[in-house]
Amino acid sequence: MIVMKFGGTSVADGAAMRRVIDIVLGHADLKPLVVCSACAGVTNKLIEVADAALQADEATVGQLTESLRARHLEAAAELLLNAAEPLRRETAAQIEELSAELKRLAEGVVLLRECTPRSRAAILSFGERLSTLIVAAGFRAAGRDCRLLDARELMLTDSVYLNAAADLAETRKRCKKAIQPLLESGCLVVTQGFIGADARNVTTTNGRGGGDLSAAIFGAALGVAEIQIWTDVSGVYTTDPRLAPNARTIARITFDEVGELAYFGARVLHPDTIRPAVADAIPVRVRNTFDAEHEGTLLVPDALPDVDGIRAVAIRKRVILLSFAMRSANRTSRFLAGVYNSLVNLGIEALAAQGSEHHYVLCLEDADAAASLAREFREFADVDISEAAVLCAVGPRVAGADGAAVVARLAQVLQPFEALFVQHHVGNISILAAVPAERGDEALRAAHDLIS
Ligand code: ADP
Ligand code: ASP
Ligand code: MG
Repeated sequence: MIVMKFGGTSVADGAAMRRVIDIVLGHADLKPLVVCSACAGVTNKLIEVADAALQADEATVGQLTESLRARHLEAAAELLLNAAEPLRRETAAQIEELSAELKRLAEGVVLLRECTPRSRAAILSFGERLSTLIVAAGFRAAGRDCRLLDARELMLTDSVYLNAAADLAETRKRCKKAIQPLLESGCLVVTQGFIGADARNVTTTNGRGGGDLSAAIFGAALGVAEIQIWTDVSGVYTTDPRLAPNARTIARITFDEVGELAYFGARVLHPDTIRPAVADAIPVRVRNTFDAEHEGTLLVPDALPDVDGIRAVAIRKRVILLSFAMRSANRTSRFLAGVYNSLVNLGIEALAAQGSEHHYVLCLEDADAAASLAREFREFADVDISEAAVLCAVGPRVAGADGAAVVARLAQVLQPFEALFVQHHVGNISILAAVPAERGDEALRAAHDLIS
């Protein structure tokens, strides 16, 4: 058994879905579980539906839900162009039914003027429910035995509706019972990424980009031989190819390295994806739906130290940098204890931190939290808030004895960009550097040019 997960661009329309079907059929002997995202851009549109409904903007809700309905009908018509009439009719009727349900739900929000995380998750779930219904019909049109299973009956989660964590033990039990026999019998199985349900059967979602995480959880639950993440680029690149045109595919990268890159902005993988796979040592391969022959990138526990220094760089934008210049060095510990206590109370994590006895810098995501910390501690320190981008460089030699040399090279390259800090702690597998927000992309390209 393997898991094949297809992201939004891979199922963007009928033509893309046809490619997905061909790719999966080419792997049919490996007994694939097919996990799909919503069609590209649909989750964003569903967020707009929820927002418009909350504003009681009925006209916008009407337009958006109608355009989503039309888009999915069109994708199905294109994919099923040569399919038998009953299958075409049945699929269209299912799309109509889901579209009507979405509209009713949004109208409910309009009436209530309230969109709780629970309602929002319910609205967001329609993207994956619609795309998978069309893809499953595509397999049937190709003459294959195919079952569409609702991920909400497989993935048990907690009740954090928009960022739900899975109950791995129960999900494993359900997957073994519902999916494994079907796959073993040669039937194809399609299910949704991103969605699940809590113990009371209430729909949940696992965070933006969570389809990758769902794929990894399903893969771990079934103990598959490989988890394949099919996307719109040929694997994990040396950096985001949209930001540096000379970026190139990395053949092998370690789980740790890719986890760090994902956390610091490389959206090619959801940052938590690798966790379930690492725990069970399941190989993960990132591949390109639009270049299916390309081997892509294999994620492995250990990779060869085959590059000198940096293997890849990522950039996390919209970071708030909070600098404290302490007035009294001998109270630093007490001061920091206070700062971290406030972070805990605010329920937020620092992305990175760097400090000495006089000066301490925190990188946060949340501007309001930064402002509140600045107010709270201005009595003890001169506080400065600025917008920054954080670069993250990973590589096989970064953590070792050669790390200092790599840091020095990076610091030198970033100097013209007025780097706010370049940070590396012994043993860390990554180097972090903060630059002013507006210099982020340029600094990323300069750091990327260090990769040999
Ligand atoms: P999907 O919809 O398939 O999940 P995403 O858009 O979430 O796809 O992720 C793929 C995108 O990630 C690519 O189009 C690319 O622009 C971006 N990306 C960012 N960093 C990297 C990287 N290091 N390697 C490859 N792609 C990256
Ligand atoms: N559809 C969801 C999103 O756009 C999940 C995913 O695509 O992974 O965030
Ligand atoms: Mg993604």
